Amino acid sequence: MSGKIIILGAGAAPGVPSLSMGWGYCNPANKKNERHRTSTYVELKGVKILIDTSPDLREQLIQNNIKSLDGVLYTHSHADHVHGIDDLREINRLSRQSLNIYGGKKTLKTIKQRFDYLIAKPRQVKNVVRMPSLIPNTVKGNHEFFIKGLKITPIKLLQHCEECLGYIFNDGEYVHIADFKQIAESAFKMIKRRPKLVVMPLTTPYGQIQHAGLDEVLGYISRINPERVVLNHLASESDYEELSQTTPDNIDIAYDGMEIEIK
Ligand SMILES: [Zn+2]
Repeated sequence: MSGKIIILGAGAAPGVPSLSMGWGYCNPANKKNERHRTSTYVELKGVKILIDTSPDLREQLIQNNIKSLDGVLYTHSHADHVHGIDDLREINRLSRQSLNIYGGKKTLKTIKQRFDYLIAKPRQVKNVVRMPSLIPNTVKGNHEFFIKGLKITPIKLLQHCEECLGYIFNDGEYVHIADFKQIAESAFKMIKRRPKLVVMPLTTPYGQIQHAGLDEVLGYISRINPERVVLNHLASESDYEELSQTTPDNIDIAYDGMEIEIK
């Protein structure tokens, strides 16, 4: 199976530069340190998936010429992963169709509360010329589901927020880990092959109460043993060049617009 991943935004919640921290430890001369908030585009087996809708989504979709989607996966309900959701109306307008969104029960409940006007009522489904319609689909940790034949398995990520999910594509060919402090033990059993690619967050190298630091991230990487890793969700403490030089050869540091082929 072949496909590609595009890192639409490599930044943590405040972006880089941020209003309060500026460029922080990041070298402003390096364009790769300029980071929008996190969204990821996944295309596998011809199925087009967006993971999370960052507040910068409009720009990200335009810059990467993404005009159609088969589904949107949500990892959790924090604003930096959700609040560009209104920009999905443009996908509705282009396709003149409803769009399926997927997430855990609590995540979808929060999204419905905050963005009620975007959620399809039964009579509106497929009628999106004037009325945007997103169709919510609840998914559960360790329970696989399919989008146009592409197998996706949600996995539980712990200690970041009440409910946070990662997603395994095609039994582990591609593994997407979102914000976490700990990966649930059960998640490892869901990875049934050596991943070609893992995308994983490294907010700051030293870690925080709700975010794993570099030592924890490297520990999980050696356990999963993927061919290649891309670290994203980077805050202003994480300089591109410095991290590139201090991490092993199979680890790359994400930047906005980074495209990774899966062969
Ligand atoms: Zn986040």
